[in-house]
Amino acid sequence: TDERIPAGAALTARQITEIDAGHIWHPYGAFPPSTPSLVVESASGTRLRLADGRELVDGMGSWWAAIHGYRHPVLDDAARAQLDRMSHVMFGGLTHEPAARLAQLLTDVTPDGLEQVFFADSGSVSVEVAMKMAIQYWRSKGRPGKHRLLTWRGGYHGDTMGPMSVCDPDGGMHSMWSDVLPRQIFAPTPPRDYDPDYVLNLELLLSAQADETAAVIVEPLVQGAGGMRFHDPRYLQALRDACDRHGVLLIFDEIATGFGRTGRMFAADHADVRPDIMCVGKALTGGYMTLAATLCTAELGRAISAGEAGGLMHGPTFMANPLACAVGAASLELLVSRDWETEVADLEDGLTAGLAPAWDLPNVVDVRVLGGIGVIELDAPVDMVSATDAAVAAGGWLRPFRTLIYAMPPYISTPDDLATVTGAMVAAAASQAQGGSPG
Ligand code: PMP
Repeated sequence: TDERIPAGAALTARQITEIDAGHIWHPYGAFPPSTPSLVVESASGTRLRLADGRELVDGMGSWWAAIHGYRHPVLDDAARAQLDRMSHVMFGGLTHEPAARLAQLLTDVTPDGLEQVFFADSGSVSVEVAMKMAIQYWRSKGRPGKHRLLTWRGGYHGDTMGPMSVCDPDGGMHSMWSDVLPRQIFAPTPPRDYDPDYVLNLELLLSAQADETAAVIVEPLVQGAGGMRFHDPRYLQALRDACDRHGVLLIFDEIATGFGRTGRMFAADHADVRPDIMCVGKALTGGYMTLAATLCTAELGRAISAGEAGGLMHGPTFMANPLACAVGAASLELLVSRDWETEVADLEDGLTAGLAPAWDLPNVVDVRVLGGIGVIELDAPVDMVSATDAAVAAGGWLRPFRTLIYAMPPYISTPDDLATVTGAMVAAAASQAQGGSPG
């Protein structure tokens, strides 16, 4: 719109749509957008309320983040109380209670031995920091040649340059960048079931590349945006053993899997494995604020600090934002005070039952559920517009991508909510069977 908006005046839904389509990038978006974004006016519990009056049951948890649902009174209060103290202050030379409280809680719930917490402002940055920690560690040890990362194919670790370099290099969403990214080392995608030959080959690769490899980085148990694939937790033990034998650090990216989503507090807990470095984000603040963290062992903290730089060379402006940390601490306290294990087990049951009818569709090649994650995999890429329309018509909010229709609803979802979400998933899948054009 060319009209100037008077300061403070409310925008109409039409104005929002026009300004949005004219000026605002959306994730992986284009100008003009292929389809306008829905205007969401408010959200509470599991519901998104649209400007046109429709109400949708949220299947996405705002991309894994909103585990307690929207407008939880405890989180709302934590944000308000912190607002009355300070919303932000620089973290160089200053500290505050929200950061201390959240750091203590994080070191308590993460695997034993992760002691040092770096507060980052997004998941991608926390992965950048993890990569830098690993490289700086080996520099401090006089091994600057160990600067590459080893990962398995099919992964996704974020959209900035470092994380993109460890995303799936072949056909993944960042493969167009492969010629300008740091060159990393790739192992095949782990099969879903345990295969000793896979482990053997992984170890051979690791031992051959150990002189150049700073760390192995993987998404434990679930490869998320790279394909929503699950694998046997024994691969994580095998990685830990191989890393120890060959002098390579182990990084777990728990940004999607952390805080109960897989049925354990962290995916690492399924294998009883402690990584040297761990990234968390998304659900860290219950989806309220942009905050992530990279944790590492005390040994790494000491070694990095003894190196030539005298410390870890990273320090964002909004590091440990007090509002975000206050809500993060409240979210974590809320999580551990509730019977989240039963809630996630109920999600698993509800998703499994609700998705069963998908098996009968001719275009469905797999249906899989783990904890609070449900996935329908199709035989061809979805047309995102018609698949989303079908889900919305069935009352659910979903964001299908490639061949995947998937959900990770808030833990507070009721059986009725889950029936709506799984119904929307099956409807979205069915819409593609009825001649939805691949997009
Ligand atoms: N790692 C994983 C496993 C993720 O799922 C994501 C987010 N999709 C990221 C990293 C990047 O996090 P962010 O989008 O907050 O930068």
